[in-house]
Amino acid sequence: MKVTIFGTGYVGLVTGACLAEMGNHVVCVDIDAGKVERLKQGDVPIYEPGLEPMVKRNREEGRLDFTTDAAPAIAHGDILFIAVGTPPDEDGSADLKYVLAVANTIGDNLDRYAIVVNKSTVPVGTADRVRAAVAARLKARDSQVEFDVVSNPEFLKEGDAVEDCLRPDRIIVGASSPRAVALLRKLYAPFNRNHDRMVVMDERSAELTKYAANAMLATKISFMNEIANIAERVGADVELVRQGIGSDPRIGYHFIYPGAGYGGSCFPKDVQALGRTAHANGYDAVLLNAVEAVNDAQKAKLFELISRHFGGDLKGKTVAVWGLAFKPNTDDMREASSRRLMEQLWNAGATVRACDPEAADETRRIYGERADLVLCDRPYEALEGADVLAIVTEWKAFRSPDFARVRGLLKTPAIFDGRNLYDPVAVEDAGLAYYGIGRGRSL
Ligand code: NAD
Repeated sequence: MKVTIFGTGYVGLVTGACLAEMGNHVVCVDIDAGKVERLKQGDVPIYEPGLEPMVKRNREEGRLDFTTDAAPAIAHGDILFIAVGTPPDEDGSADLKYVLAVANTIGDNLDRYAIVVNKSTVPVGTADRVRAAVAARLKARDSQVEFDVVSNPEFLKEGDAVEDCLRPDRIIVGASSPRAVALLRKLYAPFNRNHDRMVVMDERSAELTKYAANAMLATKISFMNEIANIAERVGADVELVRQGIGSDPRIGYHFIYPGAGYGGSCFPKDVQALGRTAHANGYDAVLLNAVEAVNDAQKAKLFELISRHFGGDLKGKTVAVWGLAFKPNTDDMREASSRRLMEQLWNAGATVRACDPEAADETRRIYGERADLVLCDRPYEALEGADVLAIVTEWKAFRSPDFARVRGLLKTPAIFDGRNLYDPVAVEDAGLAYYGIGRGRSL
């Protein structure tokens, strides 16, 4: 099938590559000329396991192309995906300017039936707005061309995006047109062989499904962080509590890890945007607001522990930070907990020596060269001359360190374990002080 995708970010590029992999002819459009140029050279600008070889292979086989030129790309596709960013507006609601700009461009150029499929995470009612925008532009040029708009929210996880895209848990299709549903059924058939994963519903329900999923996941994290904060105060270990509750199949072990707060490009903005949608519709989303507030406080947790350890005076101290990306297996630093920690440390006069397997370039891009940030290629190099170590991202490379070596390199050996990776007893037996999240020993 012939597919066009607007946006070559985490969602657009992965979707494009996976659809091409199944034999479709895919054209990806982006307004970022630099990104398109790099992609044309086979250089994938983001880190996502398995993505680069897939992009290269499909480019070489002529099934995947990149362009900044929207008009021929719209002429190419029977299915036009919108996968552009929906960043938070000033008041926290989703900013639809990129989505509506694509809708306008489609309306300006469409010359035969196509379906416009929205993959971006957008507030309820956006399908109607996209439909209206396309229709207005068609009308302005007296075009009678027919089109359908579908809401098809994306559930891939950064770090596992290719795998998730190839083997989705579910494919949510919000559509009122049987013709559009049939086309998407055909497109997704190769991803839908084992059992029917397609859940068809109306557009509004599909749009809300995406927010509900992210809000539920964020709620699980904030809930566990709240339990961790209670555990810390009552002398309980939240890691034991986690295993104790996870054994109940109604709760389960997934996604109940306490830590230094959630980040990334989705949970923070989506929880906020859903809260704003609720508010705009006359409902005060008390729980969602609390989820956000708990997370915000949690992101300051590591700094509080470190600051308390040094009696509130961090001037001249050096903190080694393992992990910068908002989670393992990505280079994405959007809303990463490491950013809050580093910024708080810098404000307090401390220096950071940081190591991340993939996010060093992104960190450099965000913060530039600064004397109080040293980016190290190797984990142990980050410890040289550092006073203490903070763990912010649970990359595999950090899971089983040589604690004796860590102790030997740190000036005042202490580990602030923002992801509860280590056994506190093993760390203390190796001669280091241990601070975790909610482990009954942090106060
Ligand atoms: P991103 O910021 O990585 O990429 C967006 C891309 O869209 C950029 O390359 C930008 O240049 C391009 N763009 C902007 N305007 C354009 C236009 N008019 N025409 C063509 N391209 C244009 O974003 P992302 O992380 O891929 O997220 C995209 C959407 O998917 C968001 O709504 C996000 O909430 C949602 N989503 C993201 C994830 C994720 O894990 N990143 C998962 C599910 C859903």
